[in-house]
Amino acid sequence: MNRYLQKVLDEIREKNKNEKEYIQAVDEVLTSIEPVIEKHDEYENIALLERMTEPERLITFRVPYVNDEGKTIVHRGYRVQFSSLIGPYKGGLRFHPSVNQSIMKFLGFEQIFKNALTGLPIGGGKGGSDFDPKGKSDGEIMRFCQSFMTELQRHIGQDIDVPAGDIGVGEREIGYMFGQYKRIKDTYEGGVLTGKGLSYGGSLARKEATGYGLIYFMREMLNSNGQSLEGKTTVISGAGNVAIYACQKAQEFGMNVVAMSDSQGCIYDKNGIDLDLIKQIKEVERGRISEYIKVHKDAQYLESSAIWEIKTDIALPCATQNELNLDDAEKLVKNGVIAIGEGANMPCTKEATEYLLAHKILVAPAKASNAGGVATSAIEMSQNSMRYYLTFEEVDKKLENIMINIFNSCKIAAEEYNLGNNYVAGANIAAFRKLAKAMKAQGIV
Ligand code: NDP
Repeated sequence: MNRYLQKVLDEIREKNKNEKEYIQAVDEVLTSIEPVIEKHDEYENIALLERMTEPERLITFRVPYVNDEGKTIVHRGYRVQFSSLIGPYKGGLRFHPSVNQSIMKFLGFEQIFKNALTGLPIGGGKGGSDFDPKGKSDGEIMRFCQSFMTELQRHIGQDIDVPAGDIGVGEREIGYMFGQYKRIKDTYEGGVLTGKGLSYGGSLARKEATGYGLIYFMREMLNSNGQSLEGKTTVISGAGNVAIYACQKAQEFGMNVVAMSDSQGCIYDKNGIDLDLIKQIKEVERGRISEYIKVHKDAQYLESSAIWEIKTDIALPCATQNELNLDDAEKLVKNGVIAIGEGANMPCTKEATEYLLAHKILVAPAKASNAGGVATSAIEMSQNSMRYYLTFEEVDKKLENIMINIFNSCKIAAEEYNLGNNYVAGANIAAFRKLAKAMKAQGIV
């Protein structure tokens, strides 16, 4: 490996010993940009990689709230302001018990590259808390969100840092946080959060954007390799925001989605997923996916990871990081999978990705294929600044064009470095080159 790259990677592993997800994300990016580093000796002297992998700012804070029983609970809040190189920090908030510094830093790091690929002026950040919204009352969720924002508000702003949703943070949570921000700041700063409700500054098609964008990217990737989406059997893990709207667009494009999952189990319905029922269970009732088989009695209920054992042409991991490992990749390949589309962030382990690429499976990498969500968030920010609303069709068309452009950037970069259809490396190289250019231009900061 390139000496400078190896040195930086060794230092990162040493300095962040307990942060396995962060090391995994950095490792994947750095190893795939080696051909670019080889051409630029000057990067070492300006510590370009060291600066790109060190967050500009990492904030942690206390988030106390009183639950319905009158007991005071304390959680830890985070905001990683990773890079403002090409725009205000931008990235979602995740509320999940697994949230820790490593997960925040991996997500923030990925976000810099993803945001660069969108072609829009947004930097990279991420935040959240180890709070679990599952099973909490509306009142508890509101009090938690208000407490979280009481601290976060001093660090964000529509030209500084613009959070959005992620796992466990949807329109309801964004609404409570926006209300608290507005109350404290005493000003209507519409663009400070994205993923807002439509009645107070949200964008049409934001909810659908990540899932729709994933399918637009898949269409481009398959078409470019002489294939099409129509008629392809598909499995989608997760049953949250990304998974549901990926399923909706997939069905619209004639794909045959036969399985979806949640953190407790997976449903396999050979007749095709009944998405209206999934929406009712997950979006309205906030229930378990197992409810599905009470209505569709010939569907099967399996454990979550069994989703990768189903024979399928296309697999779309849309739940969480490292949900698809080497063992799962081997099963998918054995069963004839032709393409994987990452809807979640870093859903495939490094070993799984390497195995899939080695077996000539098309892999749509998360930082490119799920960038539609943040791209549409940037369109929401533009609408807020303009005091104007675009129609659903206008936003959707912009999203589709952005996804086409992202795919082309990945393809062109991969071709330029003789990497064939390795879009994982293509995405990393295309984003890195843009960021490196901006970093060189802005001096040592
Ligand atoms: P949601 O909270 O809406 O949904 C997550 C879903 O994944 C839930 O159905 C959850 O199940 C399920 N899940 C969690 N862990 C597992 C597991 N181990 N196996 C199977 N299912 C599991 O989150 P989002 O849809 O917003 O986010 C999903 C992924 O997409 C994350 O990686 C996120 O970072 C990424 N992403 C999201 C974007 C967005 O716009 N929302 C943008 C770009 C990336 P349960 O219902 O049981 O909790």
